[in-house]
Amino acid sequence: MHIIIGENRLELTIGDITKEETEAIVNAANGSLMGGGGVDGAIHQAAGPELLQACRKIRKEQLKGEPLGTGEAVITAGYNLPASYVIHTVGPIWNAHHPNQDKQLASCYRQALKLAKELDLSSIAFPSISTGVYRFPIKTAAEIAIRAITNYLQTATFGQVKMVLFSEADFRVYQSALKNITDSL
Ligand code: ADP
Repeated sequence: MHIIIGENRLELTIGDITKEETEAIVNAANGSLMGGGGVDGAIHQAAGPELLQACRKIRKEQLKGEPLGTGEAVITAGYNLPASYVIHTVGPIWNAHHPNQDKQLASCYRQALKLAKELDLSSIAFPSISTGVYRFPIKTAAEIAIRAITNYLQTATFGQVKMVLFSEADFRVYQSALKNITDSL
C-alpha cells in the first residue's frame, strides 16, 4: 500500500531490506556500529566486510571513538548491497519508564531522512527500528515512525520512502498506523 504526500510517495511493503533497490537503506544499528543480530547482521552479511571497515572509520574519525548516540544517524556506502548507501541509526532500547524514547525513535527517522536529503538522494527504505531485540512495542513504534515520516514529507520534496516490514503481522500494524494518521492529515 502507498500514499502520496505532496511530491512524495510513502510505501509499506513486506520483504528483506537487504534486497531493496532504493538508493539508501537504513540500518537499525547499535551505538558501537560494529554489527549485531537482526537486520544489522543481515545488512553486514549482505554488504560484505568493507561495511564494517567503513563503520570502524566513522567511529574513529567522525565520532572520535565515541559510540553513535541514540536517535542519531551516519552514512556509509552500501558495498555489495543493491542500495548505494546505508544510513546507520540507533533506536532506543525500550524501557517502560524512559520518558525520551518516543522522541529518540522519531529522531532516527527524521535524521536518516535529513541525511539522505543532504546527499540529494530521493529514495530510502527503513526497517521497523527498535521493534526487534530492542523490544519497543510495535503499535506505538509504528505510529511514531509513520508520524515522523509523514511530518517530514509534508515539509520537504524528497521522493520515495519505503517501510520494509519483515512479516505480514508487522505489515498489518504499520498499515493500520498509516490509515489512522492519513485520516487525520
Ligand atoms: P532493533 O535492535 O532496533 O530492535 P532488530 O534488528 O532486532 O533491531 O529488529 C528490527 C526489525 O527488523 C524487526 O522487526 C525485525 O523483524 C526486522 N528485520 C530483521 N531482519 C530484517 C531484514 N533482513 N529486512 C527487514 N527487516 C528485518
